[in-house]
Amino acid sequence: MTKSIKIGDKIIGGARPVAIQSMTNTKTHDVEETVAQILELEDHGCEIIRVAVPDKEAALALPKIKERIHIPLIADIHFDPELALLAIENGADKIRINPGNLKDDDIERIIKKAQEYKIPIRIGVNSGTLEKEILEKYGRVTPEGLVESLEKKIKLFEEKGFDDIVLSVKSSNVRDTIEVNRLIAKRFPYPIHLGVTEAGLKEDAVIKSALAFGGLLNDGIGDTIRVSITGNPVEEVEAAKKILKFLNLKNSGPELISCPTCGRTEIDLIGLAEKVQKLLETTDKDIKVAVMGCVVNGPGEAKEADIGVAGGKGKAVIFKKGEVIKSVEESQILEALKEEIESLSTTHHLKGSGFAAVQLCGRSAQGRPPTFDCPDQGPG
Ligand code: SF4
Repeated sequence: MTKSIKIGDKIIGGARPVAIQSMTNTKTHDVEETVAQILELEDHGCEIIRVAVPDKEAALALPKIKERIHIPLIADIHFDPELALLAIENGADKIRINPGNLKDDDIERIIKKAQEYKIPIRIGVNSGTLEKEILEKYGRVTPEGLVESLEKKIKLFEEKGFDDIVLSVKSSNVRDTIEVNRLIAKRFPYPIHLGVTEAGLKEDAVIKSALAFGGLLNDGIGDTIRVSITGNPVEEVEAAKKILKFLNLKNSGPELISCPTCGRTEIDLIGLAEKVQKLLETTDKDIKVAVMGCVVNGPGEAKEADIGVAGGKGKAVIFKKGEVIKSVEESQILEALKEEIESLSTTHHLKGSGFAAVQLCGRSAQGRPPTFDCPDQGPG
């Protein structure tokens, strides 16, 4: 278990839930824009926010931003130690530095200031700032080399009696990200921030992050995560929530289950799934809703779901926990679902026991056990 670290009023590490982090892409000195973006990110579930501090104006904007937001504010510093000091003096709840970009005596000054203001420092290491001798030793950037570089940096902090540290070693390579984080989790007691750098546009970035974080988080490695996406940071937060949700690490609203459709489907399942997804965006209940393609397989396969819809020809059945409760015309499906979702109690969902399955299948074999295998259940 990692050490607990306090960032503003948020504690990370230990056995605490993984926290979702994002970074603004506004000009930090533009307080209005930056606050607006952070508030939007908060609404979507962001728990810790990082802002770039590339100049004095950005550092001086921190108090004005901080007084209008509700989550810890991290200052991201590159190269200039004076900006790190200024960010701390201006209320940053944590700073993120890459010691590879700073001289040792500057790092010492930053450590002293962080000690004085009692804030943690995230030590970031990446392939771009790997020491020459480490590169020569390993011949290229390797997870072992990155960890060796990190160890040297950590020692600098520990020698000064500073252990209010969060670690982050990033790579744009998924396998290296997994390996390096496994190594640092074994070797150091500090909380780890997970991220894949330069991950790309949304689809690639989400896939890379899900692959890299999945195994690590499942093994208990990682205390905060950021899904870096070239795009709107709201998408980062949404993706992070889904990754945590699908790993059962966070209850964060409804989940849609839908079958891939096959030759048995006799309803516009894709269209219906899209409409149900929209419907689910209107609730924050922690439920699973399955939309499947046939009545024969639907209720049985989605029996863990709270609510299910299984489609037939022009009709569908609604079921709860695998039990069919009614049959409705195709045009009534959404309305019927909405009623059932509204009737589900919040307490039930907060316990994490809830699933709502909307299952739409093309058959109408209500109450019958499946007589064929759903292709979605097979080895393929
Ligand atoms: S058999 Fe499976 S994939 Fe095919 S429609 Fe039914 S639930 Fe969907």
